[in-house]
Amino acid sequence: MSELRNCPRCGNLFTYRGKRVCEQCVAEEEKDFEKVKEFLKDKPGATVLEVTNATGLDQRKVLEFIREGRLTALGLPNLTAECEQCGAPITSGRLCPKCAEKLKREIDGVSGSHHGRGGEKEYNPGKMHTADRLKRP
Ligand SMILES: [Zn+2]
Ligand SMILES: [Zn+2]
Repeated sequence: MSELRNCPRCGNLFTYRGKRVCEQCVAEEEKDFEKVKEFLKDKPGATVLEVTNATGLDQRKVLEFIREGRLTALGLPNLTAECEQCGAPITSGRLCPKCAEKLKREIDGVSGSHHGRGGEKEYNPGKMHTADRLKRP
């Protein structure tokens, strides 16, 4: 019961066991992460650029660690990725709190409009009637 996949990192075929990349690359990524962690132990105020310079890692890789929330968990306020909407610095995920909130409101608005203005006139009398009856038995 083994599924063969192409590793997106190195391109080798590997047996899929729930990991995105092959075992070798999982180990490599762990090593990369350890490198970043070690560096940040000495320099907790470092920025992404300083990390990439010091570790020789790809900036994308470091940003990925940030987005996964792995570096934020270590409490590093200067290590930020960019919000995909407005470019504001963020410490995890893909959106800043402001854009995340906006997106959430938009989604709520869409689902909320179902019961919104349009149907209200039709539904209100019935609802009020029920409420009245409940208040005055
Ligand atoms: Zn690989
Ligand atoms: Zn934003």
